[in-house]
Amino acid sequence: MTMNASVPGALSAAPSAFSYVADPAVAYIAANDFDRPTLVISRAKVAAQYDELSAGLGQAHIHYAVKSNPAPEVIRTLVRKGSGFDCASRGEIELCLAQGAKPSDISFGNTIKRAADIAFAHSVGITLFAADCEAELEKIARHAPGARVYIRLIVENSLADWPLSRKFGCAESLLPSLLDLARDLGLVAYGLSFHVGSQTRKPEFWIPVLDQVAPLWHAARAAGHDLQLLNIGGGFPAYYGQSIEAPRRYAASVVRAVAARFGSVPHLMAEPGRGLVAEAGHIAAEVLLVSRKSADDLHRWVYLDIGRFSGLAETEGEAIRYQLTTPHDGEETGPCVLAGPSCDSVDILYEKRPVQLPVSLRDGDKVMIRCCGAYTSSYSSVGFNGFPPLDVIVL
Ligand SMILES: *Cc1c(COP(=O)(O)O)cnc(C)c1O
Repeated sequence: MTMNASVPGALSAAPSAFSYVADPAVAYIAANDFDRPTLVISRAKVAAQYDELSAGLGQAHIHYAVKSNPAPEVIRTLVRKGSGFDCASRGEIELCLAQGAKPSDISFGNTIKRAADIAFAHSVGITLFAADCEAELEKIARHAPGARVYIRLIVENSLADWPLSRKFGCAESLLPSLLDLARDLGLVAYGLSFHVGSQTRKPEFWIPVLDQVAPLWHAARAAGHDLQLLNIGGGFPAYYGQSIEAPRRYAASVVRAVAARFGSVPHLMAEPGRGLVAEAGHIAAEVLLVSRKSADDLHRWVYLDIGRFSGLAETEGEAIRYQLTTPHDGEETGPCVLAGPSCDSVDILYEKRPVQLPVSLRDGDKVMIRCCGAYTSSYSSVGFNGFPPLDVIVL
């Protein structure tokens, strides 16, 4: 059985907040069969989402976080739109350059860079680098003399669905000495950056973070650092079943909150990843098995041909809850534990909070996992346990 027969049901079951009807990736998945899990992503949707975010962000320039979906066609689409790019490695820089990005539109935003990658970036004309400690500033000064650097801060109080750890950024107490050191090393102490945490569902959730960073910005300027850049990072949300504001309104609220606290910022930058690409792609997958662990098991176990290692890593901690479309939508449902196909016992997607799926779901059914354009193909292993990595089709 393919999903073709069931598309009208799937469409009517779709929440109104999200328009499937005009979605080319949905139409493509419905009209085709796939012999392995496949992410289908629509360039037109990426471009439309860029337009919306960029309209809301106003003067703030978008530097797309390449790691969220590094498909070359996605990068090229964003180059044509005038986007900048936040890169974490030589590989991502080469990818963006090959797709036509100008070095002046690329920031090297990883705070943990290979020295040779810094030298490479410098040699191709990239002049904007992130750092969060003395040793990284010294590395940048050595391999990219005279570069502009921005200091990444740890921000407290993240209300994100996918909060970031303390891995990146420095405590605010370290900021003055790092800006001084940058200047003394002959670098340009160019600005500050932070990340509110990924999937920050509401613009209000930015407020405590902005309240933390704004006094640091003003203090640094008062101390004589002519800061130009405020990089507000990513965090723009995607629709995973809980309502979110339209991207244009969301971005405009954030920019208003920034302006109220920072005043006019010469160079405002945002680095959306998820918010730009997640809703532009969906995964075509298949049910491999439906079973119960005992005769009186209250839950069915539903095993898909895709799991934690083949693209759905963000189900870790059940943080990101993907929505499923099945051929039986609209029929009676019951609670299921959802799991991947590999022989690794952590390859379970949702167990603490079971998923309601149609009772008639069975092996061989095609399912669509919705809004999967971000952090899926880039998180897929090369083929753990012999299961094929996520295939990608760009429309
Ligand atoms: C991953 C990343 C982003 C993108 O975050 P989203 O929550 O996907 O928007 C932005 N900036 C930096 C530095 C990142 O590492």
